[in-house]
Amino acid sequence: MNLSSTVTSIREVIHGLFFQFLQWFHSLAAVSNHPISSALEQFTEKRSEKEKAYGEEDLSKGNKHDHHHHHHHHDHDCSEHAVTLLDGSMGSQLRLDGMPQDELFRQIWSSRAIVDTSLHKLVKQAHLRYLQAGSKVLSTNSYAVQPRYYRAAYPDDWKAKMSEHAECAAKLCREALTEWDGEDKKNVKVYGSIGPICESHRPDLTRAFLKEHGPEYIKEHYAITGKALVRGGADVLLLETLNCWEEAKLGVEALSDLGVPLVVSFEGGLRTDSLQPQTHLAPAMAREVLAAKKAGAPICTLGFNCAPPEFILQCLTNIRATEGLSEEIKEAGIDIAVYANCNDREAAHSGGFKVSSDDSTKIEARSDLVDEKYAGYVDFVNKFIELGATFVGGCCGCSHEGIENIRRGLKSHLN
Ligand SMILES: [Zn+2]
Repeated sequence: MNLSSTVTSIREVIHGLFFQFLQWFHSLAAVSNHPISSALEQFTEKRSEKEKAYGEEDLSKGNKHDHHHHHHHHDHDCSEHAVTLLDGSMGSQLRLDGMPQDELFRQIWSSRAIVDTSLHKLVKQAHLRYLQAGSKVLSTNSYAVQPRYYRAAYPDDWKAKMSEHAECAAKLCREALTEWDGEDKKNVKVYGSIGPICESHRPDLTRAFLKEHGPEYIKEHYAITGKALVRGGADVLLLETLNCWEEAKLGVEALSDLGVPLVVSFEGGLRTDSLQPQTHLAPAMAREVLAAKKAGAPICTLGFNCAPPEFILQCLTNIRATEGLSEEIKEAGIDIAVYANCNDREAAHSGGFKVSSDDSTKIEARSDLVDEKYAGYVDFVNKFIELGATFVGGCCGCSHEGIENIRRGLKSHLN
């Protein structure tokens, strides 16, 4: 879940239109939902065993172990794994559907839809649209449940509110799945979304926040949200749009003993404090995730999200170009998930976006990605898969229509 947010276009980064963004980010970043995905840990384990037993059969995702499945594979490279479809942004959909953009919205963003019971139907409807589009992973509308926003909005009982809202978001997601009449509901997983602890697309603020509050404070808040999501019915916890490894590490430490697998998804620009992309760091991030898994963390998936697809493609290319790394990731039972940002930040800025106005609906998706049934983005998604992604979806600017078009346009076999 992520928000819709953010992502910096290359030109923007280059030109350093930084301050304009800050505000923009602020408003959008928390609004969308980031989906991600991955299989349950036990599936991963089973898969590894079966892969050893059967060679390169496509047994990914656990639920498709029937023999018929194997015969469907002749027209694909037999080393290729089937792909699982994630969902798209929740926040932008909720805004379009009528979530109030009032003062409280400006404090807690997409969580605004959790506050009023009367808005819960919007949340369930957004999940339902993704189910109908073919998503096999639903991410909960909890991206913005984090201590900085909640402390400001609920000074007296912010921890209780975080817990309450996260649990409610997971329950709404679970209810949408229960009420759905699709045949394939058993193969759908609920991912509990956990956004950045301080702010999206702000490695600078994140590092300052970590320093100011210390690791125990951060871990306590990850744990509050993570436990509440699991109570509400999340199958997997999704740490997404992570600003840096330091942030990821605390999340992993806080969430490793909750009995559910973890997805660790970095903002795909892997940016410096001044938001310059550093996609050459992708192999180092992968190494950190591998080491954490080796040390016992239940990590099922490494992800890259909410950056322009060009940056994420560079991340995957850099991992692939690092000798032995892709094999090591695969052998560790770690999937790769990718969901890029389809919005045009530049368009947002040239419109003079301000948090205090309600121009957020004017953020425009990049026409080169979304026009003609998302043809541009679908091309990227096919490249992500060629480079090893086994979970694909959309982040900010990618709606249920985007997911539907990915489903139709994929060259690979879908779970
Ligand atoms: Zn995003």
